[in-house]
Amino acid sequence: MSSKKLHQHIERLSNLLRNEARTSGMDYGLQPIQLEALCYLSNCNRYSDSPIGVTEYLGLTKGTVSQTLNVLHSKGLIRRISDKKDKRVTHLKLTTASKKLLDKAVPAPMLRRAYEGLQKEKQIRLVNDLKQLLTTIQRSNTMKSFGVCNTCRFNRCIETGQYFCELTQEALSPNDIQLICREHSSETGS
Ligand code: SF4
Repeated sequence: MSSKKLHQHIERLSNLLRNEARTSGMDYGLQPIQLEALCYLSNCNRYSDSPIGVTEYLGLTKGTVSQTLNVLHSKGLIRRISDKKDKRVTHLKLTTASKKLLDKAVPAPMLRRAYEGLQKEKQIRLVNDLKQLLTTIQRSNTMKSFGVCNTCRFNRCIETGQYFCELTQEALSPNDIQLICREHSSETGS
């Protein structure tokens, strides 16, 4: 299969998902980009839940992200919390309302139905293949990986269920290591 064909499939999938996000978001008066920002904040760790984290992940301008976050804040979907150690840093936390909203909207119902219709082996293969494609694109374009701790060179397993980040010099819980991080750096340095 040519890479053009691959591009066509991914573009079509992106269109379908964006349309579904538009429909889901309309129920809450949200644009797709505002839903995407909430989705990112539900998946990222405490080093990444900042306006700059959202900006880098979504690849938008600071102005657009600032407007997006203001809308989410005015609708009661995020809280802004100052960092305990560094008051210049603001953490963006989901509220109960936004968690409920995301439970309904993500994964997109259309995608969830299609995925559940696949055999287990196909589900695993599909996710692994897409992950590999994403990693390859990020590495070959020297983009931030936004990966999780278990593939990061800064992660140390101290003992079962206890981890330590050598970059931030802080302990990580089993829950922390499931979340994506803007400081993630794989063994190969990407
Ligand atoms: S180990 Fe890596 S991915 Fe995990 S918190 Fe530290 S820098 Fe981020």
